[in-house]
Amino acid sequence: MATQYKNLINGQMVENGEWLDVVNPANEEVIGQVPACGKAELDQAVAAARAAFKTWKKVPIEERRAALNAMADAIAENHEELYRLLTAEQGKPHAQAMGEIGAAPAIIRAQAGLSLEDEINEDSDKRLSRTRRVPVGVVAGIVPWNFPVLMAVQKIAPALLSGCTIVLKPSPFTPLTTLRIAELIADKVPPGTVNVITGEDSLGPLMTGHPDVDKITFTGSTATGKKIMEGASHDLKRITLELGGNDASIVLPDADPKKVAEQLFWSSFTNAGQICVAAKRIYIHEDIYDELSQAIADYAKTVVVGDGAQQGTGVGPIQNKKQFDRVCELIQDAKDHGYKFLVGGEVDPSGSGYYVPITILDNPPEDARIVAEEQFGPVMPLMKFSTEAEVIERANNSDYGLAGAVWTSNPDKGVEIAEQLETGTVWVNEFLHLSPLSPFGGHKKSGFGVEYGEEGLKEFTYTQVITVKRDKVPA
Ligand code: NAD
Repeated sequence: MATQYKNLINGQMVENGEWLDVVNPANEEVIGQVPACGKAELDQAVAAARAAFKTWKKVPIEERRAALNAMADAIAENHEELYRLLTAEQGKPHAQAMGEIGAAPAIIRAQAGLSLEDEINEDSDKRLSRTRRVPVGVVAGIVPWNFPVLMAVQKIAPALLSGCTIVLKPSPFTPLTTLRIAELIADKVPPGTVNVITGEDSLGPLMTGHPDVDKITFTGSTATGKKIMEGASHDLKRITLELGGNDASIVLPDADPKKVAEQLFWSSFTNAGQICVAAKRIYIHEDIYDELSQAIADYAKTVVVGDGAQQGTGVGPIQNKKQFDRVCELIQDAKDHGYKFLVGGEVDPSGSGYYVPITILDNPPEDARIVAEEQFGPVMPLMKFSTEAEVIERANNSDYGLAGAVWTSNPDKGVEIAEQLETGTVWVNEFLHLSPLSPFGGHKKSGFGVEYGEEGLKEFTYTQVITVKRDKVPA
């Protein structure tokens, strides 16, 4: 029988006798079961978080920091078990799972070091006015399946540091590593401060609509983000939404094809392309298009697609059947339109596992579905451009505004173009680098608010201005 993983509610690992199966996307075998929760369990978790909030909000920040650092230590001490479990449920190759599990404690520790100091608004003979930050209360965290552990800790850490308590819901596709972490940290934090409950997608709207939840912090698709915003409006809950992206990479004519080919490849294909900030549209200047597209294609042919638990795998399976079908549909659409494939495009439906071959398209039109939509799979359209003004317009021609990149041997030129892109993050000669100390968030339909850094921490707080009248009589 598959291992059963329990939920964390009020400091206890609990189950309700109803179970959901969790499947390994590399072979479609059931590798674990998690509780199928509904309103009753959510009510218990929210009540525990509410009760814990009464005392946690008064705990000195040094103690809250110590609890976070203890959580980070517990994750770091169990690195190997956790990364193997993450590969088994998520599909990413071991090296990338090690990266995610290794980054989790680093993110917690970095965020634990943040603080929000009081600000003096007025210090005069008439009054002393200061702004302080107070925690919003009970937070509901809802996370997706592509980086289940990172997304969980980047919500838990600032919530707890600010003095909030949290009820976290992992994706039904990838709850196992998060529940194992919940078990490891259960005795590192007071009961009720961190609760982790699992269920189908239908548990999400119950959280959004719960009258005793004060804030929703969500990472996932733009479509779900809109529903959350709507659901949260009834109680005017605070919201932070990290949503989808269709990031453009722009390669200028002075970029060295030999130097950038491999990096461009991984900016699209890390985690089988299932990254909100993956490069999903690559614009290459016509002067170097042929040489660079060939170099990327040559490199792509050296990368192995397979089970992430096998040594040598560079690109794992798609995480779940629904996403696999969607990526296959986009590839089929490209075929139906007669677009040219440089690499891949042939999905083998026989055998088990959700494998899509590395697929690179040669200059499809701007309105191709595979260009205009977020693919979220191992698919990379390369497109030719002639002028800077044209490529900036094409890059910005999207409802999304998450991130982007510019590749050039002239960093000043890179920055000049970066400043014209309508996205929350832009890299020059780099990709996928996010810092827990810098605000991360999307423009347009890629999000609402930010995570990380002081700006992200502020989203778990209200401002409170305290003004004291002074009656100093002028001498
Ligand atoms: P999703 O929106 O389908 O699901 C995300 C989470 O929301 C899951 O836990 C799901 O159970 C829950 N959910 C589903 N319906 C809900 C509802 N009506 N109300 C409340 N919760 C609900 O997203 P996904 O397919 O798991 O993840 C892929 C998407 O996430 C992509 O669009 C990707 O770009 C985006 N993403 C964004 C970021 C970012 O930081 N901006 C990071 C990672 C992924």
